[in-house]
Formats: sequence, C-alpha cells, structure tokens
Amino acid sequence: MRIFSALAASLLVAGAFAPAAQAQQKYITIGTGGVTGVYYPAGGAVCRLVNKDRAKHGIRCSVESTGGSVFNINTIKAGELDMGVAQSDVQYNAVKGKAQFKEPFAELRAVFSLHPEPVTVVVRKEANINSFADLKGKKFNVGNPGSGTRATLDELIGALGWNISAFALASELKADEHGPALCDGKIDGFFYLVGHPSANIQDPTTVCGAKLVSVTGSAVDALVRANSYYAHAIIPGGLYPGNPQETKTYGVLATVVSSSTVPADTVYAVVKGVFDNFDEFKKLHPAFQVLKPENMVTDGLSAPLHDGAVRYYREKGWVK
Ligand code: GLU
Repeated sequence: MRIFSALAASLLVAGAFAPAAQAQQKYITIGTGGVTGVYYPAGGAVCRLVNKDRAKHGIRCSVESTGGSVFNINTIKAGELDMGVAQSDVQYNAVKGKAQFKEPFAELRAVFSLHPEPVTVVVRKEANINSFADLKGKKFNVGNPGSGTRATLDELIGALGWNISAFALASELKADEHGPALCDGKIDGFFYLVGHPSANIQDPTTVCGAKLVSVTGSAVDALVRANSYYAHAIIPGGLYPGNPQETKTYGVLATVVSSSTVPADTVYAVVKGVFDNFDEFKKLHPAFQVLKPENMVTDGLSAPLHDGAVRYYREKGWVK
C-alpha cells in the first residue's frame, strides 16, 4: 500500500508537472562579437536578466562569441542563432540586400537598439599617424570578414575613392587580436566600431600608449548626409589612458535583431527581461549609461519590429 501510494504520488507529480515543465524549456542563443568588445558583455547582460525569470517562461538564454554583425545576421538567417547584435548600417544593408548581402532578408526583425558605436581608429604612438589619410601606405587592420567593422571600413574607403591596396598591409585580424598585434608592432593601426569605454581599447592604450585618431573630412560628411544610419560622433577625452583629447568621428548604433521565425513569446520574454529591469541593465556595462528606452525602440532600426517586441512596447505605450 505504501509502495502503491508512493508510486501514485510520483505518477501524479510526473503527470501533472514534470512533462509540462520539460516541454516549456527553451534554449535561445544570442550572437555577439569578440570577448573583449561590448557586444559580448551586452549579450551577457540581456541573458542574465532573461534567465532571472526562467521559472516563469522556461527560457535558457546564452551568448556566443562570433565574428560580429554580418556573421550574426547570416547565422540568424540560417536558423542557427535566435538573436544577434548588429550595427545599424549592417541591419540596413541586410534589409535592402546591399553591400555584404546579395538579397534582402525579408524575415529580419529589429528588437531594440543599444549603445552608439563610433568609428574608432587606434594607432601606435610612434607611427606618426594623425588622420585617416595618414594611414595610406601603412599596415592597417581592416577587420575580419563577417564583422560590421569591415563592412563600415569598405564603405568609407569607397567614399574616399581608395581601395584596400591603399594600405601596405590590410590585415584581417579579429577584434580580440588587433590590440596585441598593435603593441607588438605587427600593425600600425586598427579600425573598430565599438561602444565606449571598452576593454578592447583600454588594453592597447594602457599597455603601449596607443592613440585614438579623428576620422573627419568631406567624404565622412557626405556619408553622414547620405545615410540615416550614420551620425557624427565624439569619443570623449579622458576615457582611455594617454588620450586626454576628444576624438571627432562618425558612427552607427548597435542593435539587437532576430527573425520573424523566432516565436513572439520568446522575443517578448527577452524585451521584458531587459526593460522590466532597466536600471539594473544600464549598470551592467558603462557603454549603456546613455540608453533611454524610448530611443531604443526606434533609433537605428531599419527592419520591422519583431511581433514579440511590439507586444511589450504597446503595453508600455512606447509604440502605437
Ligand atoms: N561592431 C563590431 C562588429 O560588428 C562588434 C563590436 C563589439 O563586439 O562590441 O564587428
């Protein structure tokens, strides 16, 4: 009798709760960038807040370090990532089927935008480089294929009427490798679109006195005028050791994207995790200090908003 009732009780528990709870367990992966950039900790911050409520929605969120924006969008398209971080210019190109994308990605969906990512050029302090034009004939890291950095570099050198052979060496190191290569003297400078402050820039400025260089001029002005995803930008002075001056440049926004094939309930749970805990979210990276929810649901987004995001933003009265 005792055995029977124990068995009955365990069947009851299993029947009533366990299979249902198991069926609800869902895994989502967010594609980010190099571990020393801002996308990786940004994805980690999103997942941390999503996972806090796992008992309610059953979602286990994790991040993957990747080659960056273009890789993330292509991998979402292939159905191998649920979400990813991507530059606003790359998101635009994916919607239109321009530049790195052969055809429009109709299922691409915007979720929200994040921090600004100024075009950041960092050079060796002995390299005697004071402007982008000085990089002609130098050893320059142009970014790995698949990065948003590389996509933006290609558009800039096109606007300048240059091509990649303008550089004595155009290396394609990943962002996690460009700082050490600079300090070892293997390259004279690198190009990177990243939020500030970031560990990736902190390292070479601290280790070998690397300098930030302004990126300005008529080609940059024309790019900003012609493309709504670009804006003039300033990297404040004093953020990094040995760089007290402000750096004038231009840039994009980081954005979080997904696909219409990802369920609305999943994306709803993600945006709810972030915006229900927004004060905590902002504290998870110093580049998030400037974020405001009302801007994050519109700025830098070229793809239509995901249905799950729209549901939450309507509840908040942030979109119609
Ligand atoms: N914007 C960079 C890219 O798409 C990544 C920056 C980061 O990892 O924070 O390549």
